[in-house]
Amino acid sequence: RSMSSVTIPPPACMLRPLEVPLRYLFGPGPSNVPPRILAAGSRPIIGHLHPEMYEIMNDIKKGIQYAFQTENNMTIAMSGSGHAAMECAVFNTVEPGESVLIAINGIWGERVAEIAERMGANVHRMVKTPGRYFTNTEIEQAIKKHKPVLLFLAHGESSAGLCHPVDGIGDICRKHDCLFLVDTVASLGAAPIFMDKQNIDILYSGSQKALNAPPGTAPISFNDRACHKMFNRKTKPVSYLFDMTHLSNYWGCDGKPARVYHHTGPVSGFFALRESLAILAERGLEESWEKHKEVAAYLYRGLEDLGLKLFDLRLPSVTTIAIPEGYDWREMLTYIMKHHCIEMTGGLGPSIGMVMRIGLMGYNCEKTNADMALHALADALKNCKKSKA
Ligand code: PMP
Repeated sequence: RSMSSVTIPPPACMLRPLEVPLRYLFGPGPSNVPPRILAAGSRPIIGHLHPEMYEIMNDIKKGIQYAFQTENNMTIAMSGSGHAAMECAVFNTVEPGESVLIAINGIWGERVAEIAERMGANVHRMVKTPGRYFTNTEIEQAIKKHKPVLLFLAHGESSAGLCHPVDGIGDICRKHDCLFLVDTVASLGAAPIFMDKQNIDILYSGSQKALNAPPGTAPISFNDRACHKMFNRKTKPVSYLFDMTHLSNYWGCDGKPARVYHHTGPVSGFFALRESLAILAERGLEESWEKHKEVAAYLYRGLEDLGLKLFDLRLPSVTTIAIPEGYDWREMLTYIMKHHCIEMTGGLGPSIGMVMRIGLMGYNCEKTNADMALHALADALKNCKKSKA
């Protein structure tokens, strides 16, 4: 037996064709991708440093500026999912030992707190049960106490189904020389957010929710205050891949005449993201917000008719319902997938065992889909009853 002979045979699974089922993705993401975006993602690959690719990246930048309602030059898409944007935001604007304040009312604050701890920040947590919100007074008091360089808040808390008010918080942060970082992964395109007007210093989102692009790219934008902090640091960010000095050059935001190789961006993912932003631009933000509000209100009425309980300050893209008494939520979700090919999900992090979640986002946001979700839930309520509550 020569040294060069293969000892591990080709795996049997690889000799079978790829199988991907058709599913209605009515959970908190990813959502179904419309044919136009799928087609954009299947266009032939070009080089990540070709001039045509730069044009497409410039278009993406413009599309994000519109979606975020910002004129920030430092606006890019991450090569990675929403978590890449979370890490990019924290890694670049915070240095080890600096104090950060994280609002936690679901899983997303917990995640950002962990990310900040891992890079050596001094993390202060403000905690509420999922679905509760922070008043501006509470936020200002905590900022005065901990003197953070950064405050994190999730606008669309998808694990709790809550849309957090942001008005006035950016001003409080300015007053106390703190950067305001906001997560709009689950709310962009579904609920109004105005990066510039609301004085948000760093805003990020994801591709796979109301934008309806495939998972794997994530818009992010930094204003001048955030740029000033991140480009005047003493230490280098812990991540090479997410270092904004390199990414700003890759995205043509640093004013240098040439872009140099940093990493190979997800070319197909960027094609698809461009198309999803184009659809949003054609449709208009106001219409998209209005549609999410209307379909969500329709879904709420149907859920209440089924006797299900909802939470307050609702996020129009992801609706959380309290798990009805006498039911096992896992069994209901499995039943709905098996009999209706519909994905709905349970809670996440602190909301596990508390809620079930229904997402109708972007392309999926239609009354006919709300009807399908309601029909499936009614069927599960009829057939999954465990005990008489
Ligand atoms: N933030 C929020 C509010 C989210 O809903 C999600 C995705 N569920 C993320 C961040 C993380 O995004 P990703 O899964 O794309 O990394």
